[in-house]
Amino acid sequence: MERWKKILLQSLRDTDELAERFGLPAEELRQVNRIFPCRIPRTLLERIKSTDDPLFRQCVPDPAELSDDNDLMNDPLGELRFRKTEVIVQKYPDRCLFLVSGECAMYCRFCTRKRKFRQPFRIGEEEIESGLRYIREHTELRDVLISGGDPLLLNDDKLEYILQGVRQAEHVKIIRIGTRTPGVLPERITVKLVRMLKKYHPLYLNIHFNHPAELTRETQTALKRLADAGIVLGSQTVLLKGVNDDPEIMRELMWKLLENRVRPYYIFQCDLIYGTGHFRTPLSKGIEIMESLRGWSSGMANPHFVIDLPGGGGKIPVTADYFLRREGNSIFCRNYCGEEYCYPDID
Ligand SMILES: *Cc1c(COP(=O)(O)O)cnc(C)c1O
Ligand code: SF4
Repeated sequence: MERWKKILLQSLRDTDELAERFGLPAEELRQVNRIFPCRIPRTLLERIKSTDDPLFRQCVPDPAELSDDNDLMNDPLGELRFRKTEVIVQKYPDRCLFLVSGECAMYCRFCTRKRKFRQPFRIGEEEIESGLRYIREHTELRDVLISGGDPLLLNDDKLEYILQGVRQAEHVKIIRIGTRTPGVLPERITVKLVRMLKKYHPLYLNIHFNHPAELTRETQTALKRLADAGIVLGSQTVLLKGVNDDPEIMRELMWKLLENRVRPYYIFQCDLIYGTGHFRTPLSKGIEIMESLRGWSSGMANPHFVIDLPGGGGKIPVTADYFLRREGNSIFCRNYCGEEYCYPDID
């Protein structure tokens, strides 16, 4: 058995062990675990030295998950509404999500798909076939985003079957895979996997990273392997209270990603998922972070800060405002340092 599979099988699922390890209330954690199960690879658990660790809040169940308010929903992104088959979500004219795996290496406590932890779903061959058929028949699709769960939790063979199937649709120009494994289970990025992936170029990998501490030596090796295979790496970060709601931490994360050839792509406002209210930050926090990046760091280190609109409206950018006022054709702006400049516009 491959090493990553062993690590996965031995993941921690029993919260009593967590309670003992970190001195937490055992019965409360058990209650949370019944509703929103926990899964932590032991290789990752060993990295968590204290309850202040940025990974701790991301993976250890918290009684706060059971005390959420009414703003929060089970399907805030309206994915059920845009569901085209069991495994396809299409909201945009030229691209779709293809959900190929119901599993993740670690269950993130703030996950958008948290409602699925309760009944971990198996995606069978029939569903995959229906997804592939949809993609072949919809010639407007130029970009297929393979997601889940985490697609890299599939066996190499199964993943290759899917990539091959998508590639058979000639109208699909690029394939994207969304994954968190390089950061939480870097052992998954084997030479064999990468050798397989690179057959399906142009291939983009969007990797979920929330904190610079997630870029360990093993993770950096995995990223190097992927980048050396010509896979274009991007990052997605969820803005999380108590984890990364801090300009310094975000700046360090963006820089560390760039050093590893990962181009920061999105910072997400935390979705309104039931059981995640304790991670929410006001929009102003994200804007403050974006202002601290713009101008102060390379443009390459500036992702888009977006909200995935509740109700299924899709993603919209949230930006700081650099326009101050307009006087005739004179546009008064501020720069990143707050100095005022005038731009002469034309009619
Ligand atoms: C995020 C998302 C995409 C991809 O959006 P991009 O802005 O192109 O990265 C596509 N479909 C759905 C349903 C999504 O949620
Ligand atoms: S890796 Fe992504 S899909 Fe999986 S639990 Fe974490 S946030 Fe959710």
